[in-house]
Amino acid sequence: MKTQTNTFQSTCCYCGVGCGVVVTKEANGQLSLEGDKTHPSNNGMLCSKGMNLHYTVMDQSDRLLYPQMRLNKSMSLQRVSWDEALDRTAAVFKTFIKKYGPDSVAFYVSGQCLTEEYYLVNKLIKGFIGSNNIDTNSRLCMSSAVVGYKMSLGEDSVPVTYDDIEAADVLFVTGANPAWCHPIIWRRVEAHKADNQHVKIICVDPRVTDTARSSDLHLQINPGTDIVLNHAIGRLLIENGNIDIDFVTDHTDGFETYRQKVMQRSVHEAAEICGIDPHDIEIAARLIGEAKGFLSFWTMGLNQSVIGVNKNLSLINLHLITGKIGRAGNGPFSLTGQPNAMGGRETGGLANMLPGHREVVNAKHREELETFWQTPVNIEPKPGLTATEMFEALADDKLKAIWIINTNPMVSMPDVNAAENALKKARFVVVQDVSSRADTVQMADVVLPAAAWLEKDGTMTNAERRITYLPKALDAPGEALPDSEIIWRFAAKMGFGEAFNYKNTSEIYDEYVKITAGTSIDITAVNHELLRKNRSIQWPAPASDNAFENITSTKRLFEDHQFYTPNKKAQIHAVDDENASEPTDPEFPLVLTTGRIRDQWHTMTKTGRVAKLNKHIPQPFLQIHPDDAKKRNLNDGQLAVVAGRRGEVRVKVQLSTDVRPGLCFLPMHWGKMLGSNLNRANNLTSTLVDPKSKEPDFKFSAVQVSAYVKP
Ligand code: SF4
Repeated sequence: MKTQTNTFQSTCCYCGVGCGVVVTKEANGQLSLEGDKTHPSNNGMLCSKGMNLHYTVMDQSDRLLYPQMRLNKSMSLQRVSWDEALDRTAAVFKTFIKKYGPDSVAFYVSGQCLTEEYYLVNKLIKGFIGSNNIDTNSRLCMSSAVVGYKMSLGEDSVPVTYDDIEAADVLFVTGANPAWCHPIIWRRVEAHKADNQHVKIICVDPRVTDTARSSDLHLQINPGTDIVLNHAIGRLLIENGNIDIDFVTDHTDGFETYRQKVMQRSVHEAAEICGIDPHDIEIAARLIGEAKGFLSFWTMGLNQSVIGVNKNLSLINLHLITGKIGRAGNGPFSLTGQPNAMGGRETGGLANMLPGHREVVNAKHREELETFWQTPVNIEPKPGLTATEMFEALADDKLKAIWIINTNPMVSMPDVNAAENALKKARFVVVQDVSSRADTVQMADVVLPAAAWLEKDGTMTNAERRITYLPKALDAPGEALPDSEIIWRFAAKMGFGEAFNYKNTSEIYDEYVKITAGTSIDITAVNHELLRKNRSIQWPAPASDNAFENITSTKRLFEDHQFYTPNKKAQIHAVDDENASEPTDPEFPLVLTTGRIRDQWHTMTKTGRVAKLNKHIPQPFLQIHPDDAKKRNLNDGQLAVVAGRRGEVRVKVQLSTDVRPGLCFLPMHWGKMLGSNLNRANNLTSTLVDPKSKEPDFKFSAVQVSAYVKP
């Protein structure tokens, strides 16, 4: 929304908190930025990353300005026109599709993409090319939560809102470090606690993080034992009479099987497996059981696991047996890592989904989209390749071409050496990005320069289902184009011009919202003009409800205790509690967990350009317990080799009791362009994925650490 000359309201494009910002173009051409005091998600607050966001568009030094292309792998990239780049890409795609079928091509997109962009790519490949080979880097961070919500609540629907923070008595933060990774949510939590003596924070994390330090109770569990802990809490809630038997009877299925499951292990046995004091589990269970408001937060610690879906289900179960869902201050709240991971989920930007939370395996859903899109092909009933499967298929030459949009798999994929080799072997790689800092650009046969934040318009949905509009405030440099325009131009080159004949993103959005009618995310009341006027809305927002008359019309889901399952009851799942991560052994005896630091975001393609942010922690480090370091004759600050079954990393060690003995921690941000490829944490990460969500096991890989010896 243009509020006055040269001042624009927008949304921070880093994390899923979705903070509102106000950007001003100063008379000297510089930008200034502050938190938007009128935005309900952040009330004017910004974290260090958000406060410095404008520098990422003011510094144009590494921008991709022109399309580039190479005719064979031995050539260097040469500047070409948009027509040359897109004609060649269309010709290569058509050749592969004709020779090998539609599944020979794929799009790998990003939670950075705007909703309109997600919708367009999804429509192109699923409805017109005839393949479901589109997946997103959000697969790497929240797909376990998607499946967990679907299996328990019937659909991928976050039931809560940020205002539930101030209505909660117990905040259960598990597998997350919001103090660093979702700082504005954390500030709200801390302010609520400061104002209310009775409010308690429980943190579950194998590491002592800033979140853990600010909590009343830190359960420093052994990695991979989250389900054992949640089951033990569930057992105590039952034994203490802290369950809501009426809610369980009327609104859930599966309780008796669950009860039998959690009774199989005593709390003392569970505590031993988790490596914590059984008394602490009892305290946690009592606090949760007696809370009027029980709000749980989680991110990667639960999701990025080979048992990620089961971890999610074991946590959601605690809300279902206590009936602490669908009421103010209560509910399971998955915090999304990326700014528009939620928008991508809405538009079906995953290999198994279709817009409006529809699924490709559902014949009725496919037919609805075929009719709506007037597709020239039938939508494939089989899910496409997921993120990690795409790179495996490239390596096997089953996938011939990949188009990568606004993501940097050369740093972010698990077992990244294998992903790098797959891209080297790939017959054809298109990379569409903003910055040449993205390591993946070096692997491209065609490079397409994309407009950055503030240089294009569209919508995003944050972690509390809040949709905002981001206006275009600046012209993109050089010949960079908005991502949606690149896709509609390409669709025309492929012969689908009539179905992709858009003049602007507003037309794309108007089309998209129509197909949400009658679904759980019905946003038929929403369009760009209304969002410009009213700033934001939380879905669902059906036209029939005059939703825009009441901007916060759907703050909270399931207040009527009617879930999205066929019988309207939530499903309690009695999941196994065994971890299935790769085992440690005498050769690789330590568990490596990877994660994020406060002032960097993803693979540093944006935050790495901001000098102020680089000062916080300028170099990668390996956090290791002093006892483990002593056994290896390692001193603080010494260069070490971290070796695993798939590769190695060279990094300085940081001796710290913040990690348990047997565990070490490595941040995931650093990549080849920012140093050596021996900085990449993902050289070490496991190839295992959760069998249901296909999310990788980033939090548990077996490694050995030794002093670096100069050859
Ligand atoms: Fe941006 Fe997230 Fe920080 Fe808010 S909390 S300013 S959305 S990075």
